[in-house]
Amino acid sequence: MSAPLLACDNVGRRFGGFVALEGVTTAFAANKVTAVIGPNGAGKSTFFNVLSGVIAPTSGTVRFRGRDLAGTPQHRFAHLGISRSYQITNIFPELTAHENVRVAAQAFRSRYDILTRRARLTELDERAATALEAVGLAARGGATAKFLAHGEQRALEIAIALVADPALLLLDEPTAGMGPEETRGMVALIERLARERTILLVEHKMKMILGLSDRILVLHHGRLIADGTPAEIQADAEVRRVYLGQNDGYA
Ligand code: ADP
Ligand code: MG
Repeated sequence: MSAPLLACDNVGRRFGGFVALEGVTTAFAANKVTAVIGPNGAGKSTFFNVLSGVIAPTSGTVRFRGRDLAGTPQHRFAHLGISRSYQITNIFPELTAHENVRVAAQAFRSRYDILTRRARLTELDERAATALEAVGLAARGGATAKFLAHGEQRALEIAIALVADPALLLLDEPTAGMGPEETRGMVALIERLARERTILLVEHKMKMILGLSDRILVLHHGRLIADGTPAEIQADAEVRRVYLGQNDGYA
C-alpha cells in the first residue's frame, strides 16, 4: 500500500477494567470502501469512536496522513479531513434539509472565518447545496426534515458529514431500518462518494457488504480476527464460526 490515509498501530481501548478494543493494527488506503463487521459488542462502535476522535484510545497510535492524532480535540477532526455520520439521528426535525446542512456548514466554518457576513452566507448556502446534491437531495432542500422519508433522512445525515469535504468518511450502519429499495439507493450513494474519498462503514447486511466493499475487517471481542477481500472473508473458517454462520442477513 502506498502511504495510507489512516494507520492504526496496536490500538486499544479500555473502559475501567474492561477491554473493548485491543491490539488493532491496520491501515486504510485512499478511495476505498472498507466494512467493519462483527457480533454485537465486538467493539465496532468503539473503533469508530476512536477513529473519529469521540474517545481517545488508551493504547496504541492512530495516524492520519502520517500525523499522530493523540491529543487532537474532536472538533479538529473535521478540519483534518475526518467526518462521520451517526447511527442515532443528528438532524433538527423542524428545520428544512437545506437549513440542516447550512447549520453544519456554519459550525464547521465558524472558527476560521475571515469572510464578510454577506459573502459568508452565500458561501454557506453554496456549501449546503453542494452537499445536498452529492447525496441526491438537491430537489428536497426546502422540505422540512421531519417530513423526509427515512432513507432521505439518512442521506441528509451524510450530507451533514460532507460539509467538511472529508477525505475519510465513517458511516455507522447507514442502511439501518431501510428496506431493499432504500438500501439499494444508499449503496449507490456510497459507491458514488467512494470515487473521491475513503469510506469506512459498520454494517450488518452481509449481501450488501460483500458487494460494496473493497475490504472487510472482522472484530470479535475487541480484536481484529480477519482483514481481507470479501472473497477471503467469506472463506475464512473462524469468521464463519463467530459471525457469518449466525447472521440472518447472510446469503
Ligand atoms: P459494537 O458496536 O460492536 O456492538 P461496542 O463498541 O459498542 O460494540 O462495545 C464493545 C464493548 O465495549 C461492549 O461490551 C460495550 O458494553 C463496551 N462499552 C462500549 N462503550 C462503553 C463505555 N463507554 N463504558 C463501558 N463499556 C463500554
Ligand atoms: Mg455498535
